[in-house]
Amino acid sequence: MVSDTDAISPTDEGQSLHKVGTIAEQTLNQLEDKFEELRLQTQQLLSDRIDLENRVAKQKSKIGRLSEEVRLMRMPPHVIGNIQDILDKERAVVRSSNGTVFLVTYNQGIDADLLKPGARVALNQDTLSIIDVLNDAWDPLVMGAEMIEKPEISFSDLGGLEDQISLIKESIELPLTNPKAFIKFGIDPPGGVILVGPPGCGKTMLAKAVANSTECTFIRLVASELAQKYIGEGGRMVRELFDLARERSPSIIFIDEIDAIGAKRLDSATSGDREVQRTLMQLLAELDGFDSLADVKLIAATNRPDILDEALLRPGRFDRVIDIPLPKDEARLAILNIHMKDMPITKGVRVDNIVSSTNGFSGAELKALVVEAGMCAIRQNKNKATKGDFASALETILKKRAENKGEAPNSLWS
Ligand code: ATP
Repeated sequence: MVSDTDAISPTDEGQSLHKVGTIAEQTLNQLEDKFEELRLQTQQLLSDRIDLENRVAKQKSKIGRLSEEVRLMRMPPHVIGNIQDILDKERAVVRSSNGTVFLVTYNQGIDADLLKPGARVALNQDTLSIIDVLNDAWDPLVMGAEMIEKPEISFSDLGGLEDQISLIKESIELPLTNPKAFIKFGIDPPGGVILVGPPGCGKTMLAKAVANSTECTFIRLVASELAQKYIGEGGRMVRELFDLARERSPSIIFIDEIDAIGAKRLDSATSGDREVQRTLMQLLAELDGFDSLADVKLIAATNRPDILDEALLRPGRFDRVIDIPLPKDEARLAILNIHMKDMPITKGVRVDNIVSSTNGFSGAELKALVVEAGMCAIRQNKNKATKGDFASALETILKKRAENKGEAPNSLWS
């Protein structure tokens, strides 16, 4: 039997239910807070993971790059050479860069079309077998011979060379600008033109003026640069010179001091002489295979026409010789006028007197005279050059001539 005191009143039951409900609610809130906290933590961890993964990927690619660099550094250098002949499916004859010729094998993976005589190749240092075919490149010396800046010299900058200008115009400029005229008359223009005369009389200037007036690429080389140390190098450079000229056509090749490779062939004793002769032979071969109506023109210059090999002067080669002598009175007057045109001078300066006292002077010496007179005036803080300045300039140049035994002080002034 249940006593009155043991019985739970409805009010108590309601209270305890309410209590349980409150506790449950609090626990739920706490759980929700905890869940939110954990969710945020998970997000943070996820973004940390992505960040770390990125860093790992970056480090991995850095390792890849560095190990590739290490691999390249460990690789032995390759020898560079040129193919001379392909003998069969396995063997080729190559000339290495030091001039020695070898019979070698080649990598069977190389495209057979690329393996041609003349191609530049990389050779294994130990076995000298062909590893790779390289792109053709111009010799730096040949490349440097191309004058990127157009020469700014025009025919009007040349004094006293009217006859020579018209000769060079008809041999070089006309075939470039009007080749049809030559075809019509069934004649070939000269293969090349050679300018002969003492130093400093305007040979280089004349060649530059032609290049300027015809808007041609101007390729200038001193022939001594073609005389090379290694066998076959000079000939290769001549070949490359003409290839470059053809690629950049219309172009004018100007070979200064041609006597360095074009001197008479003797029964030469040294291998150096023979190499120079081979270079000359290559030049002759290029001249023979030269289409004189094509867009490449050749001008050579020398102070020593007397020692030139006759083979160079044969028809079809340098068959037009243009003489550029020391300037006579009229020519000296013209040259002086050109170099003095921007110089303020006093009335006392008589150009005709300077002309008569500079007999035997070259164009370069006349320019040197004008420059020296100007320097004299500047030194004394004058506004104009006077007769006295020219007199002392003349004295200086005459002294220099005596010291140089008549040689023009080109290097000083040109
Ligand atoms: P080299 O045989 O020593 O190479 P070069 O005959 O080629 O000599 P240039 O270099 O053409 O001589 O001339 C040297 C300098 O002399 C020129 O820069 C120019 O200032 C001057 N000069 C020579 N001849 C003439 C000329 N006929 N008219 C004007 N200036 C001239």
